[in-house]
Amino acid sequence: MTSLANNVSLSRPIEGLMQDYPLTLHHIFWRVEKLFGPKEVVTRRERGVHRYTNADLVKRVYRLANALRGMGVRPGDRVGTLAWNNYRHLELYWAVPLLGAVLHTLNMRLFASQLEFVIRDGGDRFIFVDASLVPVLQNLQGRLEGVERIVVLSDDDEVVPQHTLGELIDYESLIAGEPEAFEFPEVDERAPAAMCYTSGTTGNPKGVVYTHRSQFLHTMGAMQVGSMGITEADVILPAVPMFHANCWGLPYAAGMSGAKLVMLDRWVGDGNVFVDMAEAEQATILGGVPTIAMNLLTTLRSTGRRLPRVRRMLCGGSAIPENLMRGMDELGIPLLHAWGMTETSPVCTVAQPNSQHLTESERFRVRLTQGFIQPGVELRIVDLATGEPLPWDGEAFGEVHVRGPWIASGYHNGADPDRFTADGWLRTGDVAKVSPDGFITLVDRAKDVIKSGGEWVSSVDLENAIMGHPGVAEAAVIGLSHPVWQERPVAYVVPRPEHRDDLTADDIRGFLSARVAKWWLPDEVRFVDEVPKTSVGKFDKKALRANAAPLTSA
Ligand code: ADP
Repeated sequence: MTSLANNVSLSRPIEGLMQDYPLTLHHIFWRVEKLFGPKEVVTRRERGVHRYTNADLVKRVYRLANALRGMGVRPGDRVGTLAWNNYRHLELYWAVPLLGAVLHTLNMRLFASQLEFVIRDGGDRFIFVDASLVPVLQNLQGRLEGVERIVVLSDDDEVVPQHTLGELIDYESLIAGEPEAFEFPEVDERAPAAMCYTSGTTGNPKGVVYTHRSQFLHTMGAMQVGSMGITEADVILPAVPMFHANCWGLPYAAGMSGAKLVMLDRWVGDGNVFVDMAEAEQATILGGVPTIAMNLLTTLRSTGRRLPRVRRMLCGGSAIPENLMRGMDELGIPLLHAWGMTETSPVCTVAQPNSQHLTESERFRVRLTQGFIQPGVELRIVDLATGEPLPWDGEAFGEVHVRGPWIASGYHNGADPDRFTADGWLRTGDVAKVSPDGFITLVDRAKDVIKSGGEWVSSVDLENAIMGHPGVAEAAVIGLSHPVWQERPVAYVVPRPEHRDDLTADDIRGFLSARVAKWWLPDEVRFVDEVPKTSVGKFDKKALRANAAPLTSA
């Protein structure tokens, strides 16, 4: 009898009995309010420093939420921000998505026509702009029909630059009389929370729309020990703009973990400012692209200053050159290399050696790769010509595809649908090889890799080899069409000032012949004053290709 009863109960369907708790930013905000009220949030100002606690932040977020609702912000509305890294921008990072609206961070470095496109394509009803960036909006005067209200973020003593944008609302007056309490609506975890356009390195900017769920899970991922490893004891100082690539998820990671967040406001490019803030606020984690890290290295070396409290600097956006990694190691600031993109929230891989990497040199080599595939991200590489999956043997390279809960499933307004495969992967446009133990090494971008006689030349590898020449300041390589070989590499080289008159194409080719295969040698070396750059400082190969004279041999 007993066994029969058991069988009956076994055959009944069973329900999962865990709560369907929504993965939304409300939970992270709850932690900020309930657990980390006394922790500080610090912003550098042009004069002095602004400092308040999470408890103050929370009160202002409530006031802002009331004000936003009063302005008519509805769930799903896009609220644009044109702002540097500062506490008012952080308040918007919270209040807008918690209301169910969508925070649209605008990149002020885009060309005016691109920025106009992004505001229009994003459908922004409201824009919050730092006073110092009003001139950027002024450039779009008369072209912002969809934007109903513009709010200026400014300090009492700050003069708003001249403009003809009509009436601008002052942020502080807007929130001044509002109550310090607000009942946020329930928001579906799959509802949009934020949007961010790609910087358009390889095409028009495209809108990436993050959901509450993707932000939540990305935050959990980014905090892990094998990832950025952020804890309550940390003081995070990102020199990563809050308007680009979700600020690497750092503002929400600080909120979730209780780490202190330090913001630089306007990034002035003076390494001493960065060092001053890191020193004064006792930063433990820095973040920045390799050019920022290089700037920091130069500053530390030339001033003799040191930052003994910093335990790591998060670094990505482009590959870390070996001499930079080594130089920073010598000064006691290990760079933690990561790879990702706007479409991936952005963290996909992080380069921390594991228990298999025993020797110092092996660990160093692994840290220079783009990193280990993180929990929550699945990755494959496929043949550039056939699309067939490739082995992870550390040799074969192909386009990287990724999927996971914080990877884009499409672009806003259906742009560029070819970037998403029918079986649910994002085509990243990056070309990489994968080691048998799951570390990826980027070789190039799919659009930049050069196809010569049925073989592939990595433009990045060739650039790095050329930039190893002591007379070279910068070099970018593109493929130009060739009647026999399909494409051949051409190098655009900026000589160091002291070698402007004596560096020759033969020098470069001679230097390269000891370092790369013969058929990789550029057909032409063209000396230029500078390499064109995109809004986020990467080589603009699209512009190089558009303006390139054909090969003389073609
Ligand atoms: P965009 O694609 O418009 O340049 P992103 O800022 O999202 O905008 O840049 C993502 C791209 O930056 C990646 O696809 C990759 O090509 C490059 N990238 C990011 N991290 C690294 C890295 N660690 N090493 C080399 N390249 C990187």
